[in-house]
Amino acid sequence: MPNSNESFTPLKDLCLHHRYADLGAVFGTPTAPTPLQKPHLIHVNTSVMALLGLDPAEAEHPDWAQLTTGEKLFAGSKPFAMKYTGHQFGGYNPDLGDGRALLLGEVEHGGKRWDLHLKGAGKTPYSRFGDGRAVLRSTIREYLAGEALTALGIRSTRALCIAGSEEPVAREKMETGAALIRVAQSHVRFGHFEYLFYTRQLEAQHQLVEFVCAQFLPEVANAPVQEQAEALLRFTVRRSAELAAGWQSVGFAHGVLNTDNMSIIGDTFDFGPYGFLDDYEPGFICNHSDHTGRYAFDAQPGVVLWNLNALAHAFSSLLDTEVLKDCLGQFQPLLIEAYSGLMRAKLGLALEDDGDQQLCADLLQLLADGRVDYSLFFRALSRYCGERPAEALEALVAPSQHEALHGWLGHYDQRLQKETRSAQERSRAMLATNPKFVLRNYLAQRVIDAAEAGDFQPLETLFTLLQSPFAEHPGFESWAAAPPESGKHLPISCSS
Ligand code: AMP
Ligand code: MG
Repeated sequence: MPNSNESFTPLKDLCLHHRYADLGAVFGTPTAPTPLQKPHLIHVNTSVMALLGLDPAEAEHPDWAQLTTGEKLFAGSKPFAMKYTGHQFGGYNPDLGDGRALLLGEVEHGGKRWDLHLKGAGKTPYSRFGDGRAVLRSTIREYLAGEALTALGIRSTRALCIAGSEEPVAREKMETGAALIRVAQSHVRFGHFEYLFYTRQLEAQHQLVEFVCAQFLPEVANAPVQEQAEALLRFTVRRSAELAAGWQSVGFAHGVLNTDNMSIIGDTFDFGPYGFLDDYEPGFICNHSDHTGRYAFDAQPGVVLWNLNALAHAFSSLLDTEVLKDCLGQFQPLLIEAYSGLMRAKLGLALEDDGDQQLCADLLQLLADGRVDYSLFFRALSRYCGERPAEALEALVAPSQHEALHGWLGHYDQRLQKETRSAQERSRAMLATNPKFVLRNYLAQRVIDAAEAGDFQPLETLFTLLQSPFAEHPGFESWAAAPPESGKHLPISCSS
């Protein structure tokens, strides 16, 4: 909602800046979108409209379908395919860039700047062998994931709107083309800096450091570029550590943590075959092309650090090795601090105690051994008030694990004695931390199957539930359930 002294911008008056495109030809290529044939609007995200200063009542505006598929452009748009490179599965690929997406421009609102990035808008100079398109399935997955993570308090790109079309697009099978407008405060990736470093375009690298610092680190904006680069690297290390901690705490696996999918501001970025854990499986691999488990759930913090090393290497043109090492050295303590805080909140522990890490580790071991549903367990624990037998928890754990569960609950009960909050207060806080509704793969698939058959109501339902995942939403219990055995480990294609 705008402040009383601030009014909504009518959709027709939304005017984009194009500061990034104006950086020059080194940074990408102006490219016109190729609109999808016979588009139809699927959904407009009124929460993101509000971020941009648009009136949510204009979600019904007739222009949305054309705006979402690139047939019509917002005033001031300067569609621009951004150039970047990156490390994919550990190997350097110099040929990347926006292959099917275009930065339309930036919106300024409420003291923030938001990039609008049209995904699925046709070929660009960086499309390589690709068709420049995105399919309905992957577009819906991206649309839902941005909302789910944001509502869980984890930084993520989001989407303003989503459209489908009748245009056939070939993946493993024939599908239909779709598009969305991705919204983020920045679309600069680790790979942008790697590109400028490996092509020795050092002036441009300075320019990009200054560009990002002007937006996010104004306190160093007038400092020498080395100082800006150090501040930026420290900022990215911190944001990335917080991001990894957030993913691990909610059970989110990204699936393709290549450096071109890492945001310089620590947003969850580029959604492919991601997955939220059902059963707690530390080694969960959601990407079926990831044969070595490089991007397994429990490998994420390590791989984020690997990616930060790749970024730091790209900064070696600006910073001494000792400074780079010092910046990277911040990662682990920041990760541990952030993760411990998040897990303490999940356990309802308002105070810090030396034994908390062990208590948490013991619980995770129990959940792993018993293949217990991660989110359901924490939701049920939120209602536990120290009285055993604790049927709701037992119901989630196989009988063979009940003894272990009670052993752990004994330690938990002892630990709760040290807390000063009442059991009711603790329960209230835990219910606002441990979600009832989680974007499980089988739910996403249910929504996609319906959408592919022309029914978008399930999408609307899941979207709404995920935007307030801690609320009870009476009548929607079936959306909070664990998957049937057949709904676990659905093969999620990494084609998109
Ligand atoms: P992703 O796996 O989505 O992170 O994409 C990796 C690279 O491939 C990026 O440069 C994308 O722009 C590009 N890309 C992915 N899919 C397509 C496509 N269908 N057409 C053109 N480029 C694509
Ligand atoms: Mg990508």
